Amino acid sequence: MGVIGAGVAGLTLACLLAQRGHAVTVYDRGPLGGKLQRVWHAGRWIDSGPSLFTFPGVWRLVLSRLSETDPLDLQPLPGLGVHYVPGAQLPLPVPVDHPLYEHWVRYCNEVAPLAPHIQTLLTTPPSLTRPRFVEASRALARLLLPHPNAERWLRARALPAPLHHALAAHTLNAGVGPHAGSALYALLPALMAHDVWRPRQGMFALIEALCGFARARGVTLRPDTPVERLDVRGGLVDLGSEMRRHDQLVSAIDPTRLAGLLGRATPRGVLSVSGLALYGVTASEAELPLPPTSVIAPSDYRSFEQAMRARVLAPDTLSLVHYQHYQAYQASARVLSVLLTVPASAGAYRAQHPWVAGQLRRIEEQLGVSLHGELSTALRISPADLAVGGATGGAIYGRVFAPWRAGPLHPQRYRLGARLWQVGTGVHPGGGLPGVLGSALIVDELLQQHHAP
Ligand SMILES: Cc1cc2nc3c(=O)[nH]c(=O)nc-3n(C[C@H](O)[C@H](O)[C@H](O)COP(=O)(O)OP(=O)(O)OC[C@H]3O[C@@H](n4cnc5c(N)ncnc54)[C@H](O)[C@@H]3O)c2cc1C
Repeated sequence: MGVIGAGVAGLTLACLLAQRGHAVTVYDRGPLGGKLQRVWHAGRWIDSGPSLFTFPGVWRLVLSRLSETDPLDLQPLPGLGVHYVPGAQLPLPVPVDHPLYEHWVRYCNEVAPLAPHIQTLLTTPPSLTRPRFVEASRALARLLLPHPNAERWLRARALPAPLHHALAAHTLNAGVGPHAGSALYALLPALMAHDVWRPRQGMFALIEALCGFARARGVTLRPDTPVERLDVRGGLVDLGSEMRRHDQLVSAIDPTRLAGLLGRATPRGVLSVSGLALYGVTASEAELPLPPTSVIAPSDYRSFEQAMRARVLAPDTLSLVHYQHYQAYQASARVLSVLLTVPASAGAYRAQHPWVAGQLRRIEEQLGVSLHGELSTALRISPADLAVGGATGGAIYGRVFAPWRAGPLHPQRYRLGARLWQVGTGVHPGGGLPGVLGSALIVDELLQQHHAP
C-alpha cells in the first residue's frame, strides 16, 4: 500500500493497514504530522495546528483496532471556551448559574437524539445495508431538514441573540460562515461541549503515538519525499529520482494537489477560510488570567462572510485564543496561541501588519489582558505556510462541498478508482481530528472488504 501524505489521516490509515498485515509506505513532501507540528522556537518546543481534541471515542476506536492502550494522557478541558459575542461573554457549555442556561439546555435537548449516533456517522462506511448507518443517517436527516444552513437552523430555534451568535461561530469549523455552512455545524457544540480534551504532553503527542505505532508494525515512513506524479493504473508513485509500485494507493492530501499529481483538472468550488496563527511562550512567570480557550466572534457574520468571499480581511474577524500549559520533552511551557481567521489567499502577514495589530488590540480589549509581551517574538504560521503542503491559498478545509456533502458526518467519495482511495481533510472537510481519524477507520474497513476473498 502506498499512502501519500503523513498528516494524522495518512499515519492513522498506515497503522490500521499494517495491523492487518499489509506492507505500507507513507510518503510526505515535508516532516511527519502535516498540519500538526512540533516546532523549536525561542528556546522552546511549540505545538502548532490543532488545540482541541473532540469526540475522543473515535480515537479510542482507532486504539482498539490496533489493540493499543492510550499513550496520550488526555486531559479534560472546561468545554469549547468563553465566547465573546456582542453584549455578552458566554462559556459553552453554559454554566448552571448563567441566565441563558435554560436556553442552552433546550438547545441540547433538541440535538440529543443525534448523540447516540455520532460515532457511527464518523466511523462507519456509508452503506444502506448497514442498519446502524441507516438509523444514524435518519436521525441526522430528521434534525437537519428542512434547514439549508446553520443560520436558518438556529433561527428556527428562536434562541436568545448571544447564544445564537456563539453557536453560529462554530460554523467556522467548516471554514465558512453560518449563512453558507451546513446546518450540521449548528448542532456540533451540543455534541462536543462536554467532551473536549488535550494530551498532557501537547497535541504533537498524537503524531508521536501514531509514528510509534506505525514503526512497531513495520510501516516505512518517508518524510521529505515529495510525490511528483501518480500513475494509478500502474500503481506507480513517481518520486522524481525513483519510481515505486504499489497494489493500492491512498491519497491523504488535498484533492486539488491530488488532481495535480494525476494530471487532472483542478476541482471547482469556493475555498474555505485560512488562519494566521501566532504562538508565543509566555514571558512572565505569573499565570495570565485567561481560560484555556476564548472565542472572539465577529460582530456581524454577514460582513465577515462577504469579506471572506471577496478574499479581503474582515474588519473584525473570528479569533481563537488558546492558553495551554503542557509538558513537552520534560520541559513545562505555557503557550499562548492566537488564531485569526483570514481569507485563503496565501498571505504571509509579516510582523507589524496593521490589520493584525488592530485585531490583537480588539482581542486585548475583549479579554481585558495585554498580550503584547507574550506575542512579541511569536512563531507565526500564515496562510502562505499552510499552502505549502496543503490546500490552495492555505484554506484549512480545502474547497467547500455542497451542503449535503459538507461535514464529517456525510458519506463521501472514499474510493476514486480501481486502485485509488482518499482519506483525511480532503474527504471529510470540517471534521478536524475526529473527522480525519474517522475517515481512516472507514477507508481501512472498505479496503478490508475490497481484499476479502
Ligand atoms: C491552525 C489550525 C488549527 C486547527 N485547530 C483544530 C482543532 O482545534 N481541533 C481539530 O480537531 N482540528 C483542528 N484543525 C484541523 C486539523 O489540524 C486537520 O483537520 C488535520 O490535522 C488534517 O490532517 P490530514 O492528515 O487530513 O491533512 P494534513 O495534515 O494537511 O496532511 C497532509 C499531508 O500531505 C502532505 N503532502 C501534500 N502534497 C504532497 C505530495 N505531493 N507528496 C507527499 N506528501 C504531500 C503534506 O505535506 C501534509 O503533511 C486545525 C488546523 C489548523 C491549520
